[in-house]
Amino acid sequence: MRVLIIGGGGREHALAWRLAQSPEVERVFAAPGNPGIARVAACLPAGDGSPDAYVAIADSVEADLTVVGPEAPLVAGVVDAFRARGRAIFGPTAAAARLEGSKIFAKNFLQQSNIPTAAFATATNAAEARRALDRFSYPVVIKADGLAAGKGVVVAEDRATAEAALASLKPPFVIEEFLSGEEVSYIVLSDGRSAVPMEPTQDHKAVFDDDAGPNTGGMGAYCDSRILTAAESRTILDQIIRPTIEATGFTGFLYAGLMMTNAGPKVLEFNVRLGDPETQPIMHRVRTDLAPLLLAATQGALPADRMEWTPGPSVCVVLASGGYPGAYAAGKPIHGIEAAEAVGATVFHAGTRQGSGGLETAGGRVLGVTASGADLAAAIDNAYAAARLIHFDGMHYRTDIGQKGLKRYND
Ligand code: AMP
Repeated sequence: MRVLIIGGGGREHALAWRLAQSPEVERVFAAPGNPGIARVAACLPAGDGSPDAYVAIADSVEADLTVVGPEAPLVAGVVDAFRARGRAIFGPTAAAARLEGSKIFAKNFLQQSNIPTAAFATATNAAEARRALDRFSYPVVIKADGLAAGKGVVVAEDRATAEAALASLKPPFVIEEFLSGEEVSYIVLSDGRSAVPMEPTQDHKAVFDDDAGPNTGGMGAYCDSRILTAAESRTILDQIIRPTIEATGFTGFLYAGLMMTNAGPKVLEFNVRLGDPETQPIMHRVRTDLAPLLLAATQGALPADRMEWTPGPSVCVVLASGGYPGAYAAGKPIHGIEAAEAVGATVFHAGTRQGSGGLETAGGRVLGVTASGADLAAAIDNAYAAARLIHFDGMHYRTDIGQKGLKRYND
């Protein structure tokens, strides 16, 4: 099988790394890829990034299967374009991708389908949103409707902060009841009819330890079966995942961002693709050969079997550029990746490039240092022991990835 991966971040490196190990896969291609992906795949320029450009790339490499990493090409209709040409691609249509592309669409869908989610109001402009605020208590959550790379949500402690958020975010808005509980990322593969769940993960969105500071694209994640009980997982499948797939015919990776509240799981958001960094610890643990599974799913024939996983949890620690998620400098030389891999971690590239002097930083999130262990504490130790061997100017990482899990298990 010749597999094309669309994208060029840590998520796509983890996917390429896993798929390249499949006995069914002859060759992996990535567009645009990155220097880490180039170690396991052939990287090709993504052209103008349009659906037609990706179809042309898939044609040129004779891809038997294409897997889409990021949301933007999905929302732009890359799956529709491939299907029109009779090329196998794993992902949702543009219509189904609206579950992520528009938070108003998603909230209305959840409400109409009786799927548990936070109470909300929608507003087309700031004046309307200010009037809607009168009906909520604090903290309140303000969300921009459209794609915002993880930066379109503000949890406001008081009215002044809420009004400031309305001034800074792009309308239209969703105003939402604040939910408390543990957040869980629940991702399934779907062929449009049935779903196979992956092991649960927990992301760490805030830039600093103890969830302080602004939200980022994700500063680290861990994958551990103990995040959810079997009963919780069944409830999520029955109340959230199955009704969504039945109503939309969703194909691809469906990611439910959930809050586990006292009243049960509630949907914070849908993503219509794998999460990043969650994909990195997921790919580190998955044992089932994904290539035939994804191909079968594009034919509406996803096997119902449960996926297989190595029993030990995995942890990904993101190494970010100083200043991220605000302004940061690029072009800083990176050292120590080989040493980190020599102690057993896998280092996925998120924002790197080949400079004249070797590998250098090229993004806010630079690397994802991913390791497994016999238990969560060991996986955390292994990931951090490797992370400490890597250096670049201004490097910043959270020191508490996975601690939420340890705390929960100890309680
Ligand atoms: P979203 O992109 O909608 O998942 O929101 C980003 C982050 O904001 C989530 O991961 C949560 O940490 C937080 N968040 C969003 N909605 C709520 C809510 N209703 N209650 C509490 N926190 C929320």
